[in-house]
Amino acid sequence: MQEAGGRFPASPTIVPSLPTSSYQELWITDEVLFNYQRCHRRAFLDVYGEARFRDPPSDYLSKLRQDSLTHQQTVLGEQSVHIPNYRRGDWQAGAEATLALMQQGVDRIAKGVLLTRRPDGVVLQSCPDLLVKQPGYSNLGNWLYAPIEIKLGKRPKLDYQIIATFHTYILATVQGAWAEAAWLVLRHRGLYEIDLVELLPKLEAVLEGCVTALANQQEPEVFIAHSRCDLCHWFSHCYGIAEHQQHLSLLPGVTPSRYLHLKALDLVTVEALAEITPKQIEMLPGFGIQVAQKLVQQAQSTLHNQALLRHSSSPIAPLVDDELPTAAIELYFDIEAAPEQNLVYLHGVLVVDRLQQTETFHGLLADHPAQEKQIWQQFLELVWQYPTAPIFHFCPYEVQTVRRLAIEYDTPVAAIDPLVDRFVDLHERVTRLVTLPIESYALKPIARWLGFDWRDADANGAQSIYWYAQWLTTQDRTFLNAILRYNEDDCRATHRVKDWLVEFIRRS
Ligand code: SF4
Repeated sequence: MQEAGGRFPASPTIVPSLPTSSYQELWITDEVLFNYQRCHRRAFLDVYGEARFRDPPSDYLSKLRQDSLTHQQTVLGEQSVHIPNYRRGDWQAGAEATLALMQQGVDRIAKGVLLTRRPDGVVLQSCPDLLVKQPGYSNLGNWLYAPIEIKLGKRPKLDYQIIATFHTYILATVQGAWAEAAWLVLRHRGLYEIDLVELLPKLEAVLEGCVTALANQQEPEVFIAHSRCDLCHWFSHCYGIAEHQQHLSLLPGVTPSRYLHLKALDLVTVEALAEITPKQIEMLPGFGIQVAQKLVQQAQSTLHNQALLRHSSSPIAPLVDDELPTAAIELYFDIEAAPEQNLVYLHGVLVVDRLQQTETFHGLLADHPAQEKQIWQQFLELVWQYPTAPIFHFCPYEVQTVRRLAIEYDTPVAAIDPLVDRFVDLHERVTRLVTLPIESYALKPIARWLGFDWRDADANGAQSIYWYAQWLTTQDRTFLNAILRYNEDDCRATHRVKDWLVEFIRRS
């Protein structure tokens, strides 16, 4: 193998210490390696799991895949490319067809296949979105190829960079020379060059961890972390196991690193955690007294299926009027948005008139993305009709978005600051003041625990984004009605949570 610029090792490193026989059947693809970085268990299940346990893709996931494909086609459509001709799924044929194009010296190859077998028997396979011809020296002649990975994301996340480096790594064995560069094409950001010198050791560490874990065939323990699990196709399978095991990851506040420390002390059940005193775990790395108190109280709340005051010793009832104001008119506010497109398409406001005993929902909906400014102005007019009404919402997103829209549409600060002063974040209040026997402090689990039901049980923010995209494509108002129904239910659920919280604190 020749080196293109002398910055890289002469060949990809092979781990010599493990017996080659254990690796004979191991096939590591870029997809497996990508998933391994997010969850070791997912990579394991992708290789060894039974297909019948996989969830079908949700509407939202299908939309993401379609968006990603469209983005790739847009980028690729801007340049002429060669696509290797092979039967789908026949990776060996794909690798041979790709190599043939590389040997011909074509300028760009889209959807190529790179394949190599390491001396220890592990097969490495990757499918770079684009291979671009570069000047240099390789087994091919006076040229070589460098990979480009096209991603829908806006940021050059480490796991994207590792995969682009993985392409370079296999490419080095295929063409007998290291590419000098590798790039990501990100949405709204264009080309991002990867620092291969920095990334290569990271890739090797991730790759060897992945090879070892998969060669051992040990199924990693389940750990439900909603941020990474919610879109995973093994979710129902893993969640079922976690529920059956009453796994501690279902307890809010138990992060993967905290779990390892608790496990070392043999505190792996809700009962065990509920029976200790916070002092017994406050010294654990990353804990401290506050985390320890929260975790123990969370376990007690879950064990006894009971809401508990977070600071039962302090007199918080007098705080209620300040922190959770009850007024003649109250507004409950929820936004529907597509953050990837920086687009707000619905401001939902429930006006609760306690004197008249009426509840009126206003769904300020953009029929088209170009109406974002119009619905923003409608929202301002509506909320300023009730200049002293507190505005309840759930999580900081509504405040952040109101501030962003104010800048975007040159709304005077004098109209925004007093408005934001009226905002009351119920998520902040709930998590600071009480502990509930639920798995997550999102609006749905809290309101459902209080007996509130959404008219569409499967609706969620991601589904709303899918519905809006469907509306734009089909002009079928059924999708808009579904969004309005879901948003109204979110506002009503927020109202239910607020009333319950005030009442619970007053009674406690
Ligand atoms: S559901 Fe979660 S734990 Fe299970 S494989 Fe997927 S990401 Fe991993």
